[in-house]
Amino acid sequence: MYQTSEPRGESSVSIIGAGIAGAWHALLFAQAGHAVTLHERSDATMTESASHWAGGMLAPWCEAEASEPVISRLGIRSLDLWRQHFPQTPFNGSLVVAHARDRADFERFARLTSGHRRLDARALSELEPSLEGRFRDGLFYPDEGHVEPRRVLPQIHAAIARAGGAIMFNSAAEADDLDGIVIDCRGLFARDREPSLRGVKGEMIVIETAEVELSRPVRLIHPRWPLYVIPRGDGRFMLGATSIEAEDRGVSVRSALELLGAAYAVHPAFAEARIVEFGSGLRPAFPDNLPRIAIDRDHIRVNGLYRHGFLLAPALAELTLAYVARGEIDNEVVQCA
Ligand SMILES: Cc1cc2nc3c(=O)[nH]c(=O)nc-3n(C[C@H](O)[C@H](O)[C@H](O)COP(=O)(O)OP(=O)(O)OC[C@H]3O[C@@H](n4cnc5c(N)ncnc54)[C@H](O)[C@@H]3O)c2cc1C
Repeated sequence: MYQTSEPRGESSVSIIGAGIAGAWHALLFAQAGHAVTLHERSDATMTESASHWAGGMLAPWCEAEASEPVISRLGIRSLDLWRQHFPQTPFNGSLVVAHARDRADFERFARLTSGHRRLDARALSELEPSLEGRFRDGLFYPDEGHVEPRRVLPQIHAAIARAGGAIMFNSAAEADDLDGIVIDCRGLFARDREPSLRGVKGEMIVIETAEVELSRPVRLIHPRWPLYVIPRGDGRFMLGATSIEAEDRGVSVRSALELLGAAYAVHPAFAEARIVEFGSGLRPAFPDNLPRIAIDRDHIRVNGLYRHGFLLAPALAELTLAYVARGEIDNEVVQCA
């Protein structure tokens, strides 16, 4: 971290895009005393945003299996910010399980991640009684959490309003038309300014059953991609997520089979569950799959949150605020023009 430019006082800040990145920026800037306006081109349902489709896992230790150390560093800082600003956020940990045939991959996952402890079959069933007799052992990451995106986004939007910020839905904004500091959080829609962005499709399914109860996300080790079951309350579960280099918004038969198969492999009672929803979102990613805060005088672009928007948004917003307030620069994430 080093300092550049003179520290600045409170000023008017326009934020474009009310997904998880824009929402956390608006919240921290409004709480810091800036006059914040958050523009969102869609309505409050936000179905066009990647954030609407996300799992909402806050899992910096599990994610270390397939991502750079900066993701865990920022993710662990974000957990503090979630706890501080939204104390009701569930931090019940997360669980990783595998069937015997995927043993080698399970051991590899254990080696590449930290912050876990091994559970034998008895400890596993004490933690998640519905899984009794299903797995020989598991990995428990006690400090991880999860949020439900479709509930937490409106909560953040309400907190922005309480902090004095204005939110304008159905307001498509253009950075050059806005005065003061502009923070562009348009995700994949920012390709006019960030041509190297790409969309990475994530498919998900929501199912409903009263036969299984889970208190935390359960990841099933899978030879091709991490599949997980996240409890959503009221007997609903989200099954996620594929990771496909494609930008269409459909859900393929293959993906549906694999997602539903993963749920069935976690618990056969999921076979009787009702399917509530199929859907997919496009994760905004740079070629290195790392997030970036790009500073061009009063225009700041925050993008590339890829698979980690809910995990990273609080820490990224804090870094952007540290730059605006004190000229601080985090060398791993902030780039100046
Ligand atoms: C299936 C799936 C599962 C995922 N699971 C997880 C997970 O478990 N944990 C995790 O941390 N992350 C997860 N992610 C990743 C996460 O969803 C993304 O990283 C995150 O949503 C990106 O947020 P964003 O705010 O940058 O973009 P978005 O959420 O796409 O928001 C951008 C917003 O900008 C708005 N906009 C665009 N143009 C304009 C304009 N001109 N004016 C005003 N508004 C505009 C759009 O309407 C949109 O609402 C998952 C993603 C998917 C698809």
